[in-house]
Amino acid sequence: MIIKRLDTRHYILPLSHPMTDATHGVMTHFEVILAELETECGRTGYGYTYTIGSGGAAIKALIARDLQPILVGADASRIEQIWERMWRCMHYVGRGGLVAFAMSALDIALWDLKGKREGLPLWKLLGGYSKRVRAYAGGIDLQLSPGEMIEQTRRNLQKGFRAIKIKVGRDRLSEDVERLRAVRECVGPDFPVMIDANMRYTVERAIRAAQAFKPFDVFWFEEPTIPDDYSGMARIAREGGIPLAAGENLHTIFEFRHTIEVGQVAFPEPDVSNIGGITNWMRVAKLAYAHNLQVTSHGVHELHLHLLAAIPNASYLEVHSFGLERYIKNPPCLKDGIMTPPDAPGHGVRFDWERLAEHEVS
Ligand SMILES: [Mg+2]
Repeated sequence: MIIKRLDTRHYILPLSHPMTDATHGVMTHFEVILAELETECGRTGYGYTYTIGSGGAAIKALIARDLQPILVGADASRIEQIWERMWRCMHYVGRGGLVAFAMSALDIALWDLKGKREGLPLWKLLGGYSKRVRAYAGGIDLQLSPGEMIEQTRRNLQKGFRAIKIKVGRDRLSEDVERLRAVRECVGPDFPVMIDANMRYTVERAIRAAQAFKPFDVFWFEEPTIPDDYSGMARIAREGGIPLAAGENLHTIFEFRHTIEVGQVAFPEPDVSNIGGITNWMRVAKLAYAHNLQVTSHGVHELHLHLLAAIPNASYLEVHSFGLERYIKNPPCLKDGIMTPPDAPGHGVRFDWERLAEHEVS
């Protein structure tokens, strides 16, 4: 399965409506960088990564200029070897960052090829644990008032969600408490409600916030502070009294080891599109298994659906892809809180190429 061609494309896609979180402010666009691999026998594999508005051109250049020579001419079935070559080639300027995004797109394309060659969907190829994946609505809703939070929650319940996450991190803690209270009263008890601060707080403020949120039975508190402050995270977990989730801003297996062992993060949250692809995502899942932890996901739910279905220690799947499903012909469906991966070989994502082409950066 020798790779004969690698094409890379960069799209800037408008969001359906402006979205707001505590670190990135108001977002109106996101970027997708897509890699297409073709083998000598004519088989194609697709992988992609995304950004929330910047960095995409550099990722495309990293793939096209620096990583392409490693891929073209290589045997696509030697995924671990290709991964290691990419990692070592870019080590001096990499060890995470944009390099991890570029490697992710390529690694996902390699696994897509492998699934197609073996005639298996990724979730079976990677382990095939359970096709039923619990899903939650990942709201990007910091701008919404308590009344608007209730309307959004009702819409999510109608769509079939049985778990919901909301953003926190407003200037006034009391406003976050009221928004959380509105959601909890709307869904009732024993319904998983997660919160996500997108790194907004200092450690001291995060502890105070956690104590204020605790009466509302929060399932997890995501990214209360910067991911680099591992001992600070541990203090928030211990003194705040809510289990923590983190990982969308961690791009190496070593960072995950620290966030679990030092940071006491209970729900590791690797993102396959920025941790170095499926190869490294599965390493994080096994690391979590060894620590008796369940893994969640971040974004690109059409891909993570396969990964969580593959493993025995899956927590909830975040359903939120910045509206990428508008450019996919077969987006996954939700029924009574459960999503199931497709059985087509590979990841099975079928893009609407015409619609995407309207937004390609030349
Ligand atoms: Mg998050």
